Amino acid sequence: MSQASPVPAIRIRGLMKRFGDRTVLDGIDLDVRDGDVLCIIGPSGSGKSTLLRCVAFLDAYDEGEVNILGRLIGWRETPMGREPAGEAELAAVRAPLGMVFQHFHLWPHLPVLANVTLALRLARGLSKQGAEETGLAMLGRVGLTSHAGHFPDQLSGGQKQRVAIARALAVRPKVMLFDEPTSALDPELVGEVLSVMKALAADGMTMVIVTHEMGFAAHAANRTVFMDRGRIVEAGTPQDLFRAPQSERLRQFLETWR
Ligand code: ADP
Ligand code: MG
Repeated sequence: MSQASPVPAIRIRGLMKRFGDRTVLDGIDLDVRDGDVLCIIGPSGSGKSTLLRCVAFLDAYDEGEVNILGRLIGWRETPMGREPAGEAELAAVRAPLGMVFQHFHLWPHLPVLANVTLALRLARGLSKQGAEETGLAMLGRVGLTSHAGHFPDQLSGGQKQRVAIARALAVRPKVMLFDEPTSALDPELVGEVLSVMKALAADGMTMVIVTHEMGFAAHAANRTVFMDRGRIVEAGTPQDLFRAPQSERLRQFLETWR
């Protein structure tokens, strides 16, 4: 029996991104497969955030391809060359992605539950009741059902980030992208957010996580990528990268985190 090769959740080939005359992503090739928990590590300024932003087409990339579940994001190929995809097409290709950023970007004037259900109501057109059922279920996954009626400024940073995760989960993403989700948190609040992320990973969620939490990367990820100066310098299992770094650059980078 023939086996169809499954379409990667995310497929990146020859990705180039420039800001002015600065090349920030310099030929990235990467596949994210179903169920992968991929951690991206690397020094500040190496292009990690730009990579996630290009994957979601929050930043337009200049060359190469990013495919989400087999569909090119952001551009439409025409016989005349590439042209920008229309808004509706971009939204449809982006729909399988959930994003969580360093800063939580919650709406301060809305209660927690409304923050989580907003996209369901506006973008997906769910009824209030349907959206709230889903929203409460997602708050349950991050352990915050009892905070549904609170306002963001009544929450700790760790709780706010868990709400942001619930909000991202509400639209049932196929892949979750996290950009340093714990970097803005006081140290004692980091653990509760990482626990939620570990539970998601254990549930089989496909995740791409930019993080400086080396312990998390070592234990929760099945794949690790080290970026420096816009390139992937090393890729492999966490054991490969943390126990047997091949490059001087990764060795030096890991030294600074011991
Ligand atoms: P990292 O997340 O690894 O710290 P970034 O992707 O944020 O790195 O940034 C990579 C490089 O791109 C940095 O030199 C940064 O200054 C530059 N950069 C990022 N965003 C912009 C932008 N909007 N305009 C100009 N330069 C940018
Ligand atoms: Mg960054």
